[in-house]
Amino acid sequence: MGSPRKARGFRRLEPDELVRLTFLGAAGEVTGSSFLLETGAARILFDCGLCQGERHSRAQNQRPFAFEAAGLDAVVLTHAHVDHSGLVPKLVRDGFRGKIHATLPSGDLLGVLLRDSAHIHEQDTKHENRRRERSGKPLLEPLYEVADAERALEKLVLHPFERVVELADGLRVRFVRARHILGAASVEAWVAAEHVERKIVFSGDLGRRHEPLLRPPEPPGEADLVLLESTYGDRDHKSLEHTVEELAQALTESVRDGGNVLIPVFAVGRAQEILHYIGTLERARRIPELPVFLDSPMAIRATELYRQHAECLRELESATGRRCQPLEPRRLTLCRTPEESMQLNGRHGAVILSSSGMCEGGRILHHLRHNLWRESTDVVIVGFQARGTLGRALVGGARTVRIFGEPVSVKARVRTLGGFSAHAGQSELVGWVRGLVASGARVALVHGEHEKRAALAAELLARTGARAWQPVRGDVVSLRRRGEPVVFVEKP
Ligand SMILES: [Zn+2]
Repeated sequence: MGSPRKARGFRRLEPDELVRLTFLGAAGEVTGSSFLLETGAARILFDCGLCQGERHSRAQNQRPFAFEAAGLDAVVLTHAHVDHSGLVPKLVRDGFRGKIHATLPSGDLLGVLLRDSAHIHEQDTKHENRRRERSGKPLLEPLYEVADAERALEKLVLHPFERVVELADGLRVRFVRARHILGAASVEAWVAAEHVERKIVFSGDLGRRHEPLLRPPEPPGEADLVLLESTYGDRDHKSLEHTVEELAQALTESVRDGGNVLIPVFAVGRAQEILHYIGTLERARRIPELPVFLDSPMAIRATELYRQHAECLRELESATGRRCQPLEPRRLTLCRTPEESMQLNGRHGAVILSSSGMCEGGRILHHLRHNLWRESTDVVIVGFQARGTLGRALVGGARTVRIFGEPVSVKARVRTLGGFSAHAGQSELVGWVRGLVASGARVALVHGEHEKRAALAAELLARTGARAWQPVRGDVVSLRRRGEPVVFVEKP
């Protein structure tokens, strides 16, 4: 790669600067993960995520990149979730020509998630344009199209966990397990020049200690700087046993009432986890065998990938000595076609898992419209609901919500089971970063709403003595060759 070409949005490093890292997203918010790393030899983007949920996310996603896409050398993705990967097709459309690095299982999931994301953007734009045509407004372009996603997927270079990979002169990275979802990694990045080496760790999204289907996270030992996620920085989750207990109770009661149970799920991770718990509860005879429907083509494909990547489970089995086969409900039906989905409208006493997980789109909206107004319905919330989403409104006790532009009254019982998060809670985050702090690493908190990361910062200070930095979009951290190695700069 040699010395970077001149291009918009990049800056020449100062003489004493070894690395410059610019916070381009997920700084004071959960989604839109994006961090630009510049060295004397290369410019690498770590994550290239969509903004989701927040009020201005659509406009934010449409904004031009802060840099010239063609001037970027490579992209590194911590995992496949679209808030970390979903702007990659736009980057490719805008002229990015380099490679996209990720773990092997992430590569498979990216195939599912990026194609789906592109499809949603195409469909949304088509609907919006029909409206605009009728009112004589100018037509819109989709954020990107399926063809852009296909071109992005061709640029993937996939790596096993634990292997050190040289991305450019003096820049090496390594993916280590973060749990969270299949393929999710924390990334260690070493930058060296003229006998000085500095190291940055990107935590990515960190999973929980007791996730049943993936191997535990492996916190890196030392670094100069660590970017730590803080999605649940303000609290610990309820214990998993307690939450599985609540799930059992919710399912038993709902079935007794004769209504349907709607479980909005993230297609990747949560869907497979919930199926696993229902299967486990059935086999332990804690709940009757229930008719369970997985109504999400994407969740079905992800379920197949979790089954295929059984090596992760085998590793987990050898690490823990216990059997870790994913169990699934005995009466599980996979609804692939829209017709199969629509047949569920006439059913009672069914457990329906459908996406999107925050009720912002997808087939779950149809099920909510059909069932929310019935008193016999239970909605079981098992995942994070970002501000501004329909899921958050339901959790907040809204009496009426709008679905497809129509008001729908909420008579259903809405239960929130807080313990199923794919994200580490406060103590787990502190536990993960403790060794890094002890090695002298400075901490920057990302991927969290402001109050949550402020709470995590306070906890880190109390428990480790570390003063964590809370960057906003546009802030920069500079790693120096001499003197204080890590210098934070507010919007230079
Ligand atoms: Zn994630």
